[in-house]
Amino acid sequence: MNNYRELSRKKLTQRGVSIEDIALLVFDLQKKYCPTLHLDDCITAVDEVLEKREVAFTILTGIELDVAAENNSLNEINEVIKKDYSLYGIDEILALSIVNVHGSIALTNFGYLDKTKPGIVGILEKAGKEGAACHTFLDDIVCAIVSSAASKIAHDYENKKALLE
Ligand code: MG
Repeated sequence: MNNYRELSRKKLTQRGVSIEDIALLVFDLQKKYCPTLHLDDCITAVDEVLEKREVAFTILTGIELDVAAENNSLNEINEVIKKDYSLYGIDEILALSIVNVHGSIALTNFGYLDKTKPGIVGILEKAGKEGAACHTFLDDIVCAIVSSAASKIAHDYENKKALLE
């Protein structure tokens, strides 16, 4: 099973998303709540999210669907996915399988990132809109990983504070 995790990381890189891209968004989300936060903490949190089996499977499934749409091999639904039709919504639903195992902070951040599309999320969306690639599933998956890592950091930070009190 471990090779699915490795493979999901490799696929993210191949599709233009680095762990650092993801961690930078986590840092931007959490820095005002956790003043001692470092980028390294965010990289660790992202690594922990990527260790979950359901996260690896979601990444692999979403990227596979994006690539299949690029190759025009999805029959009737191909254009809907390739053009990122706004009322499709299954891309968000798939990404929620990551968010759902990381609690309510992950859920609220996911909605925020989906609306604001910062950093690498915006870059992926732009490339998709310009027709350079299909990132219909990948942009939501990145939002889900970022928001889940942010939730982890928020909970860990509270736990550390509680130990010092
Ligand atoms: Mg999408």
